[in-house]
Amino acid sequence: MPVTAQITRFAPSPTGALHLGNARTALFSWLVARASGGHFVLRVEDTDAGRSQDGLLERQLDELRWLGITWDEGPDVGGPHGPYRQSERSSIYAKALVTFEANAQTYPCFCSPEELQLSRKTQLAAGRPPRYARTCAGLSQAEVQRRIDSGKAPAIRFRVPDHRTVEFVDRVHGPQRFQSDDIGDFVIRRADGSVSFFLGNAVDDSAMGITLVLRGDDHLANTPRQLLLLEALGMPLPEYGHLPLVLAPSGTPLSKREGAASLTDLREQGFLPAAICNYLIRLGHACGHDGWLAMDQLASHFDLGRTSHSAARFDDAQLRHWQREAVTHSTAAQIEQWLGTHLDALPSGKERSEFVAVVKGNVLFPAEVDELVAVVANDSVPVSAEAAAQITEAGPEFFARAGQLHGASAGDFKAWTRAIAEATGRKGARLFMPLRSALTGATHGPELAPLVGLMGTARVLGRLESARALAGK
Ligand code: GLU
Repeated sequence: MPVTAQITRFAPSPTGALHLGNARTALFSWLVARASGGHFVLRVEDTDAGRSQDGLLERQLDELRWLGITWDEGPDVGGPHGPYRQSERSSIYAKALVTFEANAQTYPCFCSPEELQLSRKTQLAAGRPPRYARTCAGLSQAEVQRRIDSGKAPAIRFRVPDHRTVEFVDRVHGPQRFQSDDIGDFVIRRADGSVSFFLGNAVDDSAMGITLVLRGDDHLANTPRQLLLLEALGMPLPEYGHLPLVLAPSGTPLSKREGAASLTDLREQGFLPAAICNYLIRLGHACGHDGWLAMDQLASHFDLGRTSHSAARFDDAQLRHWQREAVTHSTAAQIEQWLGTHLDALPSGKERSEFVAVVKGNVLFPAEVDELVAVVANDSVPVSAEAAAQITEAGPEFFARAGQLHGASAGDFKAWTRAIAEATGRKGARLFMPLRSALTGATHGPELAPLVGLMGTARVLGRLESARALAGK
């Protein structure tokens, strides 16, 4: 069956840092577009001026780009459906409001938050689901004017049609059915003049030609409202798919407040973007492929039909597994860039590249390389308790002999260790553990031979001498 090109979008609100749940919604939307040969739109939901923060949008976009997600239309790249910031689309929403008003589908509402709260409580106490009680639905034109003249600014509510069934097929959850009588008349323009999410996103999705709106499960109950708005405006309806939430290991929804790592945090810790994408494509989605996927392979392994219906739980061990894979699959140049300033103590060029090749399999995060840089670049290294025990066990003579034999092997590690074996009668772990302990201060780490080459003769001899002294104590 030929695939229909899907136009999808991601609509971040610049009110907080993006976490893995947001990143997954963005990734899945992008993959649907890429897999179907469609395109992907980035639109900013910044109508709530009070909550939108300067600089946050830039950070969000920067993080999405860092993840490897690219958009065909958006605030920074433009496109035929701009502007892409909702704060700049007021005239589009104003037209919709005029249409509603002309068709008597809206009315001004002067209820205060306290009045609404009280009404809610009363309904709940009476065992009824709380809905707007239509307090202002029947105000006369004169009464409306009188209240406006007295300085009260009204919100605008959409008059939800009575006794309607709203049905749609959710692309993740399947057929959905809502009764309009359960939906209270809802605010589409706030008293401060800004439009609500219901109106802004519904109108923009339709006007921008979005064919599939993918978003979090928490928006499922908003969809019938948005369908009613579009229907009232006679605008095309997109399809919707609601992705189950991502939960923290504790079972609470991922949120910054609950201590969920933001993309900013993960990036600072040194997670690689492709590790995050390999993790996310398997979070609540049966990707059907266990191995590593390069960024340009993700789309062909994505199928919205294989998305789980239930919430996914964040698993740090899995993310770390993909981080290990990402490091393994990075080129030496990429690793060098990733390690960045952590390599400053090493001269750039050949020595740095050799070092990267040696340590690549041993680091999961850039900070972990610091100890290894110290091993090849510092005069002395701290010696762990386990390493000290190995050194003591080998005794001072072992290190004295190793030092004496070093010169004769002229930098040939194999020849050197063979000579030590012959001279001391030690072999295998009994030879290499004390040697590694003396030279690196640790009992484990990357392959010893190239590390020894990188540290140079003076450091090798210095550390053997320190070990001899330690063992002789
Ligand atoms: N900014 C909304 C959110 O982050 C997007 C809602 C939508 O996709 O329609 O949940």
